[in-house]
Amino acid sequence: MIKEFSISTTGGTELIDITSKVAGVVAGSKIKEGVAVVYVPHTTAGITINENADPSVKRDILMELNKIIPFNDNYSHAEGNSAAHIKASLIGSSLTVIITGGRLLLGTWQGIYFCEFDGPRRRKVFVKIVKSEEKKVIK
Ligand code: ZN
Repeated sequence: MIKEFSISTTGGTELIDITSKVAGVVAGSKIKEGVAVVYVPHTTAGITINENADPSVKRDILMELNKIIPFNDNYSHAEGNSAAHIKASLIGSSLTVIITGGRLLLGTWQGIYFCEFDGPRRRKVFVKIVKSEEKKVIK
């Protein structure tokens, strides 16, 4: 199954915790074992997993991305948002998360973040859930 949800971003550059939205799609699917592919169909936004306990982690990630990829740098792209395109490619546009026991297999401090690099905009996120029969964990 594939499910879509929308989010409205409010800032030019921001990380938005969408863990509960993705978890809701997984719960609604009734699939106990499998994988969730979380995909962002945009060229100036991305998706990543990182700490969702201390909000300063989000701030630090954005601060360093903005240093590495300055907003103005003699870019050629006429739309004027090259920095957002470059950040989107660095961060990536999809994630794969294991589903086990009907839940996303995330670490204690991990959350799924939608990464807006050229907001505010209305954005889409697709979640494709693929069922598997395998449950055995090999250590
Ligand atoms: Zn552009």
